[in-house]
Amino acid sequence: MDSLMLLFRERGLKITKKRIEILNVLKSNNRSYSALEINCHFNYTKNRVTIYRVLADLHRVDIVGKFIDTEGVARYYYDANYSPMVPHFRCLSCGAVDRMPVLPASYLECIKESAVLESVLLFSGTCRACLQKSNASFKKDTGSETLYRR
Ligand SMILES: [Zn+2]
Repeated sequence: MDSLMLLFRERGLKITKKRIEILNVLKSNNRSYSALEINCHFNYTKNRVTIYRVLADLHRVDIVGKFIDTEGVARYYYDANYSPMVPHFRCLSCGAVDRMPVLPASYLECIKESAVLESVLLFSGTCRACLQKSNASFKKDTGSETLYRR
């Protein structure tokens, strides 16, 4: 049996074409997506309400993770080793929001007996790809190898 079919069966979720299509977008890389970005991925050919429902269903059975970013937007991600406590990094230049490694066990140990209602684990800055692009254009402009940063 296909691993996705097995996963859906395990979680008691009916397999539908829309759920598979949207999950495959989330599985395609380590990014997190808002419902709007997923709609954009499909060139706005999907019903927006359907996308929200599918994401809510996948999140309800812990197939995809969800967090609210600093702008109040719900973002969804897929992680085969799902944990609700996964930090993300948001690039302020290109807008990508990438999943980071799971927090160390010692960190989670500190809060395991607490009732955590929400967590916003979001770093922001400039991603490596954007930094490399800006370094390349800086070198081209100045011919210098040295960059001065704060
Ligand atoms: Zn970037």
